[in-house]
Amino acid sequence: MRRTIASVFLFVLLLSSVSLRTSQGTSSRLAVWAAIPTPEEVLGFVPGDDRKLASWNQIVEYFERLDQSSDRVKFETLGQTSMNKPFVMATISSPANLANLEEYKQIQSQLADPRKLGAPGVRDRKAAELIKRGKTIVLITCGIHSTEVGSYLSSTLIAHRLASANDPEIQSILDNTIVLLVPSLNPDGVDIVKNWYDKTLGTPYEGTDPPELYHKYTGHDNNRDWYAFTQVETQLTVDKIHNVWHPQIVHDIHQQGAFGSRLFLPPYMAPVEPNVPRQIVEGYTQLGEWMSGELRAKGFEGITTNSTYDAWTPARAYSHYHGGVRILSETASAKIASPITLKFEELRSREGYDPQKEGPNFGPVWRGGEWKLRDITKYMTSVAFLLLKHSAEYRVQWLRRFYGIGKDAVRPRRAGELYGFLIKPSGACDAMFFKILQRGGVEYSPLPDATILVRMDQPYGGFAKALFETQQYPNLRDETGHPIQPYDVTAHTLPLLIGTRVEPVKAPYRQRLDKETLKTAASLNNCRPPASQPIVPALYRAAMPAYDEGWTRWLFEQSSYAYRTLTETELRKGITTFQVAPSLTTKFYVILFPDQPPRNIFEGYRAGTMPPELTGGLGEDGVKQLRAFIVQGGTVVFLNRASEFAIDQLKLPLRNVVGGLPRTEFYVPGTILRLQLDTTHPIAKDMPQETVAWAENSPVFEVAENPKGDVPAANVRIVGRYPEDKDPLLSGWLLGGDRIKGKAALVEVAMGKGRVILFGFRPQYRAQSVATYPLLFNSLATNP
Ligand SMILES: [Zn+2]
Repeated sequence: MRRTIASVFLFVLLLSSVSLRTSQGTSSRLAVWAAIPTPEEVLGFVPGDDRKLASWNQIVEYFERLDQSSDRVKFETLGQTSMNKPFVMATISSPANLANLEEYKQIQSQLADPRKLGAPGVRDRKAAELIKRGKTIVLITCGIHSTEVGSYLSSTLIAHRLASANDPEIQSILDNTIVLLVPSLNPDGVDIVKNWYDKTLGTPYEGTDPPELYHKYTGHDNNRDWYAFTQVETQLTVDKIHNVWHPQIVHDIHQQGAFGSRLFLPPYMAPVEPNVPRQIVEGYTQLGEWMSGELRAKGFEGITTNSTYDAWTPARAYSHYHGGVRILSETASAKIASPITLKFEELRSREGYDPQKEGPNFGPVWRGGEWKLRDITKYMTSVAFLLLKHSAEYRVQWLRRFYGIGKDAVRPRRAGELYGFLIKPSGACDAMFFKILQRGGVEYSPLPDATILVRMDQPYGGFAKALFETQQYPNLRDETGHPIQPYDVTAHTLPLLIGTRVEPVKAPYRQRLDKETLKTAASLNNCRPPASQPIVPALYRAAMPAYDEGWTRWLFEQSSYAYRTLTETELRKGITTFQVAPSLTTKFYVILFPDQPPRNIFEGYRAGTMPPELTGGLGEDGVKQLRAFIVQGGTVVFLNRASEFAIDQLKLPLRNVVGGLPRTEFYVPGTILRLQLDTTHPIAKDMPQETVAWAENSPVFEVAENPKGDVPAANVRIVGRYPEDKDPLLSGWLLGGDRIKGKAALVEVAMGKGRVILFGFRPQYRAQSVATYPLLFNSLATNP
């Protein structure tokens, strides 16, 4: 807005002057801004057309053109992505509202934190005044998962209608809401997916996912970062949108698999994390049910609510702890931008519904047939406009609810209630801990004895509590007694993951507070790998992308830890003459296999599913090379599921004691376990005797002679094991814990002149399990 060159401005003014003066009236045909471009005019196709994707440059250009031509759109670049593309947002509202954005931010800030309204006695009255004047702030986020292409394309359709239409519904939305529209939370992925899609268009591989992570480091895990805040895209969204605007409603637009419902909307299925305020649950339930009702009335089919997606982890829902409902929508996918045809019999059940049967939380039944990008954009834009309609019509209710959340949060705690938490700085990685609190808006104060107090009576005390507590995940079973699969992991206890000591304290609590609040904890930072690095490891990269490979790369790069990528193809060819780095030539060194299914390593993409050069996995040839490398003196480290590949293919004298067990017998879907270490071993150097293990579909080891192998059981040394005499569970959900008592979770196996190190857990899980980073770095650095 207001940065067009003069001639364009005049042109716009001439063409639109009629509409400017009559836009409130009935002359809707006249009141179209002639110069407001349609998406088609800029992209060259109508978003939703089969086999057409836009590049990120085109999307940015479209929004720039809207900004130049519409006084309802303000477009800005908030920062740079991981791969240096512009990370952008459009603010869309009535011209009058756009002229007063600072005032609306102030209103939001005061309603979010009622302490700013003065003494408790006057707050309700002042809040009522602000609620009269305020607007519903709606954040719409698209495209975090880049293969879910419908939403970033739909963002142009949503923006165009808001910028150009003059019907009463749009007028009401513009007057009563401020829409913050993020066309993509992962701009890098827009081009990664488009480039691959265009390259394979018209080939047998059209519509396949690209053979690389669509976020440079995290791939699909990029929406599991909403409390650890490790990635720049998360940081920009939190710092420059959430914490500035405190949106009441966050509409996060996704796509799900092709074979289930056509659309999921909240409410979420159980469990809801206990620190999500009741008003948030009430808000997403009311809005989700209203929208699904409206959609059904309009003839949309295949809609489910209260299924598949739970509200357990804060990793996916920043807003649930910051005053805003998260309205996740999940529309069924096609094959990227290529249509598919589904038979009714092919539709498959997911948690909580059967798409072939109408039920209380599913219907009406979709009978199958063609499903294409246009269907996806139609569902997405319809949901978005219903959501905006509700936001506008129930503006007062949304603002009251928002104020109510803030008011509950800051109320004084009664005797016997949780007053707060005491943090005892000592851990190596406390700085990361405090950075997370700062970014999440949590206030903390140092006490004279150097402990740090986090009080509950503050706007985001609940966020801190959710991260500090251990998680008691409910033992949910379906009618057959089978455990109901959590949507994501079940634990997020930061003090355990980071190794920081935190204690709850009850009210009343009296302690003299230092006046000065701790502003930065940077000086505490020593959470780094060893300064001297004797060996440069090679990080294995399979043709089939693995999130853990990306997270590991991120960790190495953040830590300035030298590494080299070793591809599947390179390893298949042989590695004895391999150079680790230009300055460091060595015959024997270390290879790290990140967590990924053993099958993805060994078999990789199956023949015919991807271009031939990408198929076949490591195969027998690769295994032979790997074995030769170890026997001649190399070290290979396998993380979590990759350890199963090592046991099978290298025929190690180990058995996975939980391998093949049904979930009713053993289940560890993302859980923090208790691990005991042999600290005399170099891998456990400088570690405490008891630490954590992030277990997620993890193997658990038992030493057993392998009749097929030539490595004796005596070659195994156990470095870490689950306790014999204590519950292995620390936080989250674990079924069958007795089975793993006393069993090994970290072992070293001597083999020829070299060795293999197997982790039965993820020591650097999503760049969060900081407490166990030393185990990883030690295993990469020590020579046999
Ligand atoms: Zn998604």
